[in-house]
Amino acid sequence: MTENPKVSIVKKDIPVTAGEILDMTRRALDLLGGLSGKIKKGGHAVVKPNLFAPYPPPVSVDRRVIAAVVTLAREAGAGRVTVIEGVSMGTLMKRVNPAISGTCMRRGYGTLEVMNILGVKKAVEDAGGEVLGVEDAEKVSVEIRGGMALHRALFPRVVLEADYFINIPAMKTHTMTMVTLSLKNLQGLLDEKSRYFSHRDDLDQHMVDINKIRLPDLVVLDGLIGMEGMGAGESGSPVDMGVIMAGHDPVAVDCIASRCMGIENPLVVGTTRIAQHDGLGCANPFQIQVVGDQVESVRKKFTLPVNYTQPLESIVTGVYRNIDLYIGGACPSCWLMTALVENLLAKVPEKFSLIVGVDPKVPPRLSTDLEHTFFLGECALATGGDLRDMRNEMQLKGIDRFLGGCPPYEQALVKLEDLLIASGRLLEAEMIEKAKEHRKKFFDYYRARDASWTPEM
Ligand code: SF4
Repeated sequence: MTENPKVSIVKKDIPVTAGEILDMTRRALDLLGGLSGKIKKGGHAVVKPNLFAPYPPPVSVDRRVIAAVVTLAREAGAGRVTVIEGVSMGTLMKRVNPAISGTCMRRGYGTLEVMNILGVKKAVEDAGGEVLGVEDAEKVSVEIRGGMALHRALFPRVVLEADYFINIPAMKTHTMTMVTLSLKNLQGLLDEKSRYFSHRDDLDQHMVDINKIRLPDLVVLDGLIGMEGMGAGESGSPVDMGVIMAGHDPVAVDCIASRCMGIENPLVVGTTRIAQHDGLGCANPFQIQVVGDQVESVRKKFTLPVNYTQPLESIVTGVYRNIDLYIGGACPSCWLMTALVENLLAKVPEKFSLIVGVDPKVPPRLSTDLEHTFFLGECALATGGDLRDMRNEMQLKGIDRFLGGCPPYEQALVKLEDLLIASGRLLEAEMIEKAKEHRKKFFDYYRARDASWTPEM
């Protein structure tokens, strides 16, 4: 790490062709001194893009940016280039897969399936690389030196042993970390269990700790189409940016990228702030040398997720007339999950009680029967007194309204959807239609900017 890290920015109005993206990426690297001599002749370069879900940019990184990086790594002498990714937990567990949903709804996509749909596999192979899903990768148990929230992890051997490691994040907002840039992007390398349980209120520290396993040698950020709003998935909205950025210091890249997104003080981003504190890089914009285009000439004010623009409780308490919420002693993660659970229950025209947290204050008698009473999170499931008696009665009567987990993440939402479907309160057909709408939204947007792209369905 240099004392004054450089971050390059190359801007071009979109739409851009694959050739123009290769030129932009080459220029972004040339502004840093180029790749020549940085990769061992015949060595193994490993590339980690952000392929969040089976949707094209801005949800996932542009396949043409990945192909450009593979091409440049090969030109610089890499004998082998492996592109490795593990798609998001929501994609693995929860997303409805409309392509093959027939009479029975199917959930989830594997990483290679996503790589195929997006055309990443073909683009990488055409450029002389190979693809690998984290699910299929050989993992090594590593101790994380200096890990604060994450002390040990199963990590792909191929990344640990890479001669050169390149991180390709997208430029997106994120409901749990405000933005997702290079530091957050390495989360996809963890095994599924670790990825799942990292989504607590110490998520930022987790993300930083993952970077302590293997810092990237280079970051190439795909900011051609950014995402604002309720990212990082289909609830976010695209922003045309036309930017490729690069740097060797991931903290510096994130600092400058967040400024390009209109975040004046980069230290409000938890991952950036903690990574600088933990010595992973520089987040002081006055010490970072921006080369090429400047922040002022590319900056757009991204709309942040609503939970970063107004108090979290304003989207949780007193919002839905059909829900009595009892929440107390709950972490921000449970508050956020409460918002998602309420959003789903609000679609059903019946009255519900929702109980969340370590010690929610609940009256002696709820206004709902046991069928309409849900517990969210491990803390709610461990409360004593009247609530324990209530849960015991539910167990005896075979009424399962327990949305467990710490945090109660995607599996809680899957379970709630399944319960509502089983009781006829939600319709599979409507969920499949909704998934098709999400797909169409991003497919149409991206196709209008890259007519050469056809999804491999
Ligand atoms: S279950 Fe409890 S500890 Fe876990 S995220 Fe929720 S409130 Fe926090």
